[in-house]
Amino acid sequence: MKIRFWGVRGSIPAPGPETNRYGGNTACVSVTTASGGLIIIDMGTGLMHLGNALLGREFGKGKGRAAILLSHTHWDHIQGLGFFPPVFIAGNQFTVWGPGDSPKVLEDILEGQMDPNFSPLQTLKNLAASFDVRAASCSESFEAEGAKVTAREHPHGATKALAFRIEDAGKTFVYASDVGYPEAGPPPAAIAHYANADVLLHDSTYRPEHQVTRRNRGFSSYEDACNAAIAAKVKRLVTFHYDQDYSDDDVDAIIASCKKIVAPHNIEVVPAREGDEIEI
Ligand SMILES: [Zn+2]
Repeated sequence: MKIRFWGVRGSIPAPGPETNRYGGNTACVSVTTASGGLIIIDMGTGLMHLGNALLGREFGKGKGRAAILLSHTHWDHIQGLGFFPPVFIAGNQFTVWGPGDSPKVLEDILEGQMDPNFSPLQTLKNLAASFDVRAASCSESFEAEGAKVTAREHPHGATKALAFRIEDAGKTFVYASDVGYPEAGPPPAAIAHYANADVLLHDSTYRPEHQVTRRNRGFSSYEDACNAAIAAKVKRLVTFHYDQDYSDDDVDAIIASCKKIVAPHNIEVVPAREGDEIEI
């Protein structure tokens, strides 16, 4: 499978000269399965750029289909939807799998951001493509574009978010963003969810010294990410969801620290950077 990063920043877009190298768009990752299926994870502002790239394919002709896995509905994970050109082309089909037990509640939240006070689109009903909203079960795996997806709920500040384990053609990719562990670190159930992944993309929002004063926001430090990767014995750790106030140089320092921590465990560190793609 091919994993591509369209938005890697946390909480709010942070464009500017100091974030040019890693990128300022918020969470969006695409996964292309071995058989060519498209899975989109999160709809942050990076979704706009993915959408523009998809127009050159079947999505430009109204013949595209994709699954969208939504970890949760904070702004930085849904704000790209109204700027995703393929949803304005009739014939394209999207199935959105998101948190909560009720597709109706999830659809109402997504509908809320289209309210005329927030968006000129006014309602989801103005999207020409088919947009089927479903609740992602955490009790059993489901199939998305031919891949097996297992969702697990974790705490994220005052709310919850989903981590997705995607298995396809013998490879495993885990997406775990916006993760607020207890102070003791990742619990056994989280480690089991990430276990032996070829790639673990993990929330690396903070340096430990900044996490201490912001624990209630529900994000991981890069040390949490490293500890999870080591305990789960993954092959590669992808750092993700960098704090909006961190410059590229700050992110460089985070990556260097991660490499130092995981090197004795034979884990490779790959920083998520807009436009980069990894294949497993
Ligand atoms: Zn976020």
